[in-house]
Amino acid sequence: MAFKPANNIQDLQYFGEFGGVNPSISDSSTYTFLSAKTMFDTFEGNAEGCYLYSRHTSPSNLYLGEALAAMEGTETAHVTATGMGAITAAIMQICKAGSHIVASRTIYGGTYAFLKNFAPQFGIETTFVDITNMEEVEKVISENTKILYCESVSNPLLEIADMKSLGMLAIKHGLQFMVDNTFSPLAISPAQLGADVVIHSLTKFINGSSDTMGGVICGTQEFIDALRNVNDGASMLLGSSLDSMRAASILKNLRTLHIRMKQHSHNAMYLAEQFEKDGLRIVYPGMASHPGHETYNAMMNPDYGYGGMLTLDVGSLEKANSLMELMQAKNLGYLAVSLGFYKTLFSAPGTSTSSEISEEEQKAMGLSDGLIRFSIGLDNDIERTYQMMKACMVEIGVLQPEYALN
Ligand code: PLP
Repeated sequence: MAFKPANNIQDLQYFGEFGGVNPSISDSSTYTFLSAKTMFDTFEGNAEGCYLYSRHTSPSNLYLGEALAAMEGTETAHVTATGMGAITAAIMQICKAGSHIVASRTIYGGTYAFLKNFAPQFGIETTFVDITNMEEVEKVISENTKILYCESVSNPLLEIADMKSLGMLAIKHGLQFMVDNTFSPLAISPAQLGADVVIHSLTKFINGSSDTMGGVICGTQEFIDALRNVNDGASMLLGSSLDSMRAASILKNLRTLHIRMKQHSHNAMYLAEQFEKDGLRIVYPGMASHPGHETYNAMMNPDYGYGGMLTLDVGSLEKANSLMELMQAKNLGYLAVSLGFYKTLFSAPGTSTSSEISEEEQKAMGLSDGLIRFSIGLDNDIERTYQMMKACMVEIGVLQPEYALN
């Protein structure tokens, strides 16, 4: 039967303490115990249903975690203060000194910097590969490799990882297959395709209002329990726990994620089609011209489309900057990093979100100076937005004037 992530979220039912239609927010960092013995058992991880201290978990965090686990179809989930808090804790839980990671070379700049610059200080080395080249991926797996890491739709190049093949490779070599699904919530369900651990930055589409940070690690009960273990759990000890107030607000926003993703995808698809007709160099997984289009089709859950992210290469950083400044002046969006907002956001990844990646490496992976990453917003009239964007492109010289008259 087809996997229906939004139905799974909708089927959960939580009430507040006094019959409220939203669950009550646990506005406490610590919890009382009627007996000292129960407190001891909770520390030992043996007292189901008891709360200890909110860095461990809290009722609000559990509600949000369960909703996200339902979305991804994993046994459970653990919410964190940021996406990086999820990624780093999950990696540090699995790896120890001497461990090796195979990771896609086109991933979010922060994750890249963590693997390239930070983790080696603890004896954890990473080999970066072209994740779409299965032979290359398999060739670099060694006996110390513990994790195969990728993003379902990569930041910022929008490469599509073939999760079924990667999942099988992970099984063959006994690796943990970890997938960052931040760009494609609902549309792609990595755990249904072979991922062991699924991560999101909740800061993006899932929360959708650019007002808070958050992250989640979705996985087995055993893995999540290990992360929260008071003695050696990476999340418990590194301390990247989410505040309950924010967990409650993210849960409320999660309720409209399916509607928002459809609109983000609809708008991005419309712009991609028009821009491609105009002869612009766009990358969008929904276009037949995208090298990962068929791979995406084979993995996607129907209804949610190809997501809100698209890139446009305008040839030079100067042109990219002028275009973004003009589009912001015309109120078509904001020159800002991040994604998943109601308003279109744009930035040049080479000098912002991927600036941690050296110039040579950017070149090798195809990240050019003039690349603009768009997170397309929820605009009601995308045709009007397109006409206005086109006028900006003509003004900057990205398009020839005749297009302005169409
Ligand atoms: N993963 C991806 C794909 C991202 O784009 C980002 C942030 O831009 C992160 C993870 C990190 O998330 P956060 O900023 O919430 O720590």
